[in-house]
Amino acid sequence: MPTIAQNIEDTEKKLNGKARLIAVTKTKPVEVLEETYNAGFRRFGENKVQEMTAKYEVLPKDIEWHMIGHLQSNKIKYIAPYVSLIHSVDQFKLLKEINKEAKKNDRIINCLLQIFIAEEETKFGLSESEAKEILESSEFDLLTNIKIIGLMGMASNTDDQTQVRQEFRQLKTIFDTFKSFQKHNVDMQELSMGMSGDYQIAVEEGSTLVRVGSAIFGAR
Ligand SMILES: *Cc1c(COP(=O)(O)O)cnc(C)c1O
Repeated sequence: MPTIAQNIEDTEKKLNGKARLIAVTKTKPVEVLEETYNAGFRRFGENKVQEMTAKYEVLPKDIEWHMIGHLQSNKIKYIAPYVSLIHSVDQFKLLKEINKEAKKNDRIINCLLQIFIAEEETKFGLSESEAKEILESSEFDLLTNIKIIGLMGMASNTDDQTQVRQEFRQLKTIFDTFKSFQKHNVDMQELSMGMSGDYQIAVEEGSTLVRVGSAIFGAR
């Protein structure tokens, strides 16, 4: 069986410098993260506040922690001191709370707006018009301790590669449109799309950050 280090190397080879890899370590024990860290890797993704914070507390402090899961406002305070990027902002209310907690920690927290692109009804996310409404609102301008640095999206969980590609392409189009926003707290740079099953398509369609779990660590 290939080691974690080999799986990361293989994945990065396929990315070919076009996108950065986030190793999705959710449900994996601390020992697995340590092995990943010791292989020289520093960018980890988690989807639960408590789990991420517990791992943060025991691991070296030069790790970049990416929150990729659905967030509740009352839990933001736990990750605000250390989170590197929140990928899953899907409500204005959440952004206000992130701003408040970031201010308490005297920092600016980078965020992505999660856009709904899949066919399934179950995935979280904003529509293009909802996201636009947030970015255009004057209330948004008052948020000085967050920065929207891009968008995140998840394609449908289907074997239909044409559909997956179409959904990623749609997100890239929205991303390109939003690049014209000139605000102190907006700087559209990152497009977080692609997971184990579809990251190669995502990169072909312009992803800059891929979130890969099972292809590196095995099935959960
Ligand atoms: C779990 C998860 C991933 C990684 O999924 P894999 O299929 O294991 O690569 C990526 N993004 C989000 C939002 C996730 O929750």
